Amino acid sequence: MYDGAHISFEFFSVKGDLGRQKITDMCRRLARYKPAFYSVTYGAGGSTRASTQQLVETIQSNGFGAAPHLSFGGDSAGELVELLESYRQKGIKQVVALRGDLPSGIAGVGQLTHANELVALIRDSFGDHFDISVAAYPEIHPEAESYDRDVYWLAEKIRAGANRAITQYFYNPDAYFRFIDETAKQGIDAPIIPGIMPLTNYHNLVRFSDSCGAEIPRWLRQQLQQRSHDSTDLVEFGLDVVSELCRKLLEGGAPGLHFYSMNNIAVIDALCQNLRLTEHP
Ligand code: FAD
Repeated sequence: MYDGAHISFEFFSVKGDLGRQKITDMCRRLARYKPAFYSVTYGAGGSTRASTQQLVETIQSNGFGAAPHLSFGGDSAGELVELLESYRQKGIKQVVALRGDLPSGIAGVGQLTHANELVALIRDSFGDHFDISVAAYPEIHPEAESYDRDVYWLAEKIRAGANRAITQYFYNPDAYFRFIDETAKQGIDAPIIPGIMPLTNYHNLVRFSDSCGAEIPRWLRQQLQQRSHDSTDLVEFGLDVVSELCRKLLEGGAPGLHFYSMNNIAVIDALCQNLRLTEHP
């Protein structure tokens, strides 16, 4: 089902040959959904530079399309161009361009440059070589001046040359559909792919959602809390809720789904099967 929808999977970077082997195995298992790419996160402030680069190159060298996340964080423009050049030489053609965050505890040190400037740097340095995804926030970025300004800055990232946006996760589909209407009013016609976070751990989700400004609806928070001591029950419940969210999004016109895999293949695969995403032998 949902033939032609954009599908992508995100991993966080891992260290060591064994870790990279596990992620490569996951890519192999998920390849039947014909993802546009497998992206790999870049730790706050560029803190995972080496492990991100190694994992990206491993995924790519195994014949899968890898998309490194990139941010200024602790890197200068020159260092980023160097990193991008080494990606280009390895045949990597897709990137996720972000402002990023600084690691906690070092606020005030380092450089945070807005993502539209990173998109412009990539286009100026590499022309059309890279397909660029950027971040979007249907529930609005926590530091945004206002809803309209946040949509405006998304439009600036697209005008600077981004090909699509991938959203922060959310559990209220109305927030996404309203956001799509608002972005259309500001002339954004690039695809905005919902980012999908599986529900697997109550405490981690609450902690992370508080820091990134994603809302967990009250009914959902209560249900997850109730199940927080029984992980099998929580995961099964979470699968139902997230599958239903994905169906509503795709049936309402979302152009695809980007899965935050959290390196948990079992849950992501179960989700794709629940959705009966088109499989390619
Ligand atoms: P920006 O687009 O720069 O926006 C940041 C804030 O500044 C917003 O409030 C916006 O309204 C405002 N703004 C934007 N441009 C300007 C401008 N030119 N002038 C003034 N204000 C402006 N973080 C990581 O550290 N590593 C990752 O790998 C990572 N992957 C992510 C993947 C996805 C799909 C998403 C949605 C987020 C990811 N993040 C990651 C988190 C992201 O880095 C943070 O949310 C960060 O705080 C903002 O990044 P951004 O690219 O959206 O920034």
